[in-house]
Amino acid sequence: MHTLAHWRENAALLKPETRHFIDGAYVPASDERTFSSINPATGRPVAEIARGTARDIDTAVAAARRSFRKGVWSRMAPRARMRIMQAFADLIEANGEKLALLDTLEMGKPISSSLGVDLPASVNAIRFFAETIDKIEGVVTNTDVSALHYILRQPLGVVGLIVPWNYPLMMACWKLGPALATGNSIVLKPAEQSSLSALMLGELFVQAGGPPGVLNVVTGLGEEVGKALALHMDVDKIGFTGSTEIGKLLLIYAGQSNMKRVTTECGGKSPQIILSDYDDLDTAAAYAVDGIYSNQGEVCSAGSRILVDRKIHDAFVERFIATAGKRYAVGDPLDPSTTMGPLVDKRQQERVLGYVDGAVKEGAKLELGGRRSETFAEGAYVEPTLFSKVMPGMQIAREEVFGPVAAIMPVDGADHALSIANDSIYGLAASIWTKDLATAHRFARDVEAGVVWVNCYEHGDMTSIWGGFKQTGNGRDKCLEALTQFSQTKSVWLNLG
Ligand code: NAD
Repeated sequence: MHTLAHWRENAALLKPETRHFIDGAYVPASDERTFSSINPATGRPVAEIARGTARDIDTAVAAARRSFRKGVWSRMAPRARMRIMQAFADLIEANGEKLALLDTLEMGKPISSSLGVDLPASVNAIRFFAETIDKIEGVVTNTDVSALHYILRQPLGVVGLIVPWNYPLMMACWKLGPALATGNSIVLKPAEQSSLSALMLGELFVQAGGPPGVLNVVTGLGEEVGKALALHMDVDKIGFTGSTEIGKLLLIYAGQSNMKRVTTECGGKSPQIILSDYDDLDTAAAYAVDGIYSNQGEVCSAGSRILVDRKIHDAFVERFIATAGKRYAVGDPLDPSTTMGPLVDKRQQERVLGYVDGAVKEGAKLELGGRRSETFAEGAYVEPTLFSKVMPGMQIAREEVFGPVAAIMPVDGADHALSIANDSIYGLAASIWTKDLATAHRFARDVEAGVVWVNCYEHGDMTSIWGGFKQTGNGRDKCLEALTQFSQTKSVWLNLG
């Protein structure tokens, strides 16, 4: 890992591309307007970025549709497509330092995370889906001898991908992987807080040999370009990761337009449960701390509700505070030793501090943090925060804070923990710490969550599914199942009679 001086020098030299990437070329917004991307660590601008319009979306969708109709990607021989996607992954890896730096400058995550976590996960996602291309099969069914019936799996057409800012590069690659592997043409809309790495992805895809028009990137505001994409009559599907509030809007837009398919990967309020039979409290506390504070708590699967058996509650709170103090401190995100950067912007900082005030008013006990950083006053920082004496009805126990704020609640055994765990509109992830196999399996079966961890947190690889139950949405990223979300089946019946 390079030094702080290296990253600062590189940041000063950066000249990122800030225009849309459409049909293989960079173009300004149709009305040439821009918006400012602000570095949340300093409050200073990073770049002036094209503020897209509905016309820009029309142009990008038309380019995508043309490329799809021509079959330059959708009908390219599978192994040729695979080679381009592999080259695309290689180029992402080779340009990793720049991509990581862009994400860190725009949304504040520590450079050690953007380079050490997001980058390899992004490369892996493109490689994993590249490897599937010539393994996607149809089915021949068992019909009467007078007929032959087979089922083809085909691309959807033009796919709009709308992604959030918390893992800008990785969220884009999780969706691009299956969407490209199944042969679709794409319009990618990054979050306005983190546009620059997505723009680079468009260019790298073409450099890798991808035909122009297959991957287009349009930047701008959600309520302008995001909405125009979701309402577009010639878009066949929206793949979305973001808040539940916007996910619901996208379902409405689909109904108001062409009934396009919509998959949603939305919010969470994930429980981490520590039962009293689990005797290694140090390990459980270390995972619980990482589960809530990594990426500043701006993680859909952040383990923000920590349910601890009453018998070990006080000892656990003590360990949690000691471990958090050792592992997380706010700092300059360009410093490779920093473990917690600023939140994405001042608005998010105010929102998170609003939750802290609300929790204090509702009677929760502030055990740690709950403040802006005095040392880094110009940035959007919030210190690692912990509340105890949280009741299940409190706002801090029910709503997604999306910041470094943990709520610890005492529980009396596994059944009590399960009932609190399931008392949520969300259902993304859940963990349980226990030495008892039957308890672990029962919990895994009964908890309403798409991802369950036993005696760990945030473990997994590309083969594990990513997606939730309830108002976390209906999407499934990463795994082979993701391929089904970007393709459709066709039934072909041949009369042999
Ligand atoms: P957001 O919903 O505000 O924005 C997400 C994307 O939607 C952005 O690109 C934004 O520009 C766009 N958008 C906003 N308004 C729109 C509109 N009216 N029409 C179309 N598009 C619009 O979410 P965010 O603040 O960027 O991200 C944080 C949220 O994402 C959290 O709720 C988090 O839990 C969720 N998330 C979920 C997962 C998952 O896998 N389940 C992963 C990461 C983040």
